[in-house]
Amino acid sequence: MGELYCCQKKFSPEIELHTGASTNDSSYNIEKREQKINNKLNLEKDKQISTLQNKINEYMKMLNNKNNIITKLQSEVEILRNKDSKKNNPKKKSKGLDNIGATCYMNATLQCLSQIEKLVNYFKYRGKVEKVIKKMKNQDCLTKSFKNLIENLWPTEGSAYLNKKYISKNSNNKYFIPEEFKKKISKMNSLFEGVQANDAKDLVNFIVMTLHEELNKSKANTVNNNISNIIFNQTDQQLILQNFLMNFMNENQSIISDIFYGVTHTVTKCSRCPLPKHNFEAFFFLNFPLEEVRRYKLEFITNYNLMLSNQNMNMNPNMMMNNNQTFQQNLQKIQLLQNNQVNIFDCFDYNQKEECFTGENSMYCNICNMQLPSTYTTFIYSAPPILILVLNRGQGIQYKIKMEFYTEIDLTNYVEYKENNNRIIYDLIGVVTHMGGSDQYGHFIAACKSPIDNNWYQYNDDMAFAVKDFNTQILNYAMPYILFYQKRA
Ligand SMILES: [Zn+2]
Repeated sequence: MGELYCCQKKFSPEIELHTGASTNDSSYNIEKREQKINNKLNLEKDKQISTLQNKINEYMKMLNNKNNIITKLQSEVEILRNKDSKKNNPKKKSKGLDNIGATCYMNATLQCLSQIEKLVNYFKYRGKVEKVIKKMKNQDCLTKSFKNLIENLWPTEGSAYLNKKYISKNSNNKYFIPEEFKKKISKMNSLFEGVQANDAKDLVNFIVMTLHEELNKSKANTVNNNISNIIFNQTDQQLILQNFLMNFMNENQSIISDIFYGVTHTVTKCSRCPLPKHNFEAFFFLNFPLEEVRRYKLEFITNYNLMLSNQNMNMNPNMMMNNNQTFQQNLQKIQLLQNNQVNIFDCFDYNQKEECFTGENSMYCNICNMQLPSTYTTFIYSAPPILILVLNRGQGIQYKIKMEFYTEIDLTNYVEYKENNNRIIYDLIGVVTHMGGSDQYGHFIAACKSPIDNNWYQYNDDMAFAVKDFNTQILNYAMPYILFYQKRA
């Protein structure tokens, strides 16, 4: 109590007035001066933090603005289209893609990508694409093949890219033969050579990365600021983030990075260092290994229920009732997990779990200069306009895992950066599903939401048809493998 009084005395402005004249009390004066210096330092620090925060907000706004520009361009395109609707209106699309030798993985992937409105508009109407093609006309260029495909799936009269030779008809519809595209990817990447079945995930990866490389306007000028990733205070964290965003935007400027790239935030804690290390990285899809997701979630909830039942021993009846309710809900969830059922939010929980590295797997700490047990956690810092999720089933028995997914997901709790504190909602616009024994074998088909009429269509190679009941035909059907979600504006 006495000490507390002392403190009050030091900081009370009233006392200060009275003792201000007492010049003899030197230790008191020193403390007062220190206090003044501290206050000044704190003020400066606050100023620094707010400057950095403003910078970060600016960068994030620039990223978001790009999106708004795309939307604006889209509406301009819409006006142009309506002006001369007969000539320019792309015909309603539900066109299949011919299977030209185990290419169902390619067809399903291309269908999903070619229904992303921002991507279609860019490849149909932006001059930049033509410039890239012209510059690379003697080399292999995926941009040209992708534009060719988009033009033929979304035909407008008079387009130089229309190729009637590759249009055929089955009992339902016309379909396109993606021969040129297949030839191009085979030539550019040996993975896609020949007629063996391939993994749709590898192709999405290849297309997104290659188109980004070809369309990137940046001359890659990384600014090396030699910023340490150890955070001593809030200013450091803002500095690391600002440095990352600045470099990212210097190095990456394409329609692909605008649409598909998000940012992850990782936190590494060495068991000896007092402070965690932080890092930011770009990503363009999230990979969820479903069997690991199931096991992680099962362990987590089982442990949670154990804790609840231990707590119950010394609790008042009201709290006990709440506890019991959660306990019962958890039991139901445990049963689902034991029956090989996970849902999309289990995957996001798994994604931000704390990973421990001990013993042989200990991580090297560049501060302690040795291998030490550490933990590692990945958070989503900012989420892209189109979020691609890969549901990895592995092979064999794991393949039996049933995945519950939704046409609308709220990721507000899983994303750190929220512009104006808005909720972060995504709508499903495309699914690559898989039928058969494992990731490598079987048949791929796609279901996509048409940006023109908002209806769902199913694409099974050359066949394309409207989906009458999405729940029974798509949601509870086959094995979803790659999900395409679109962020709501
Ligand atoms: Zn360390």
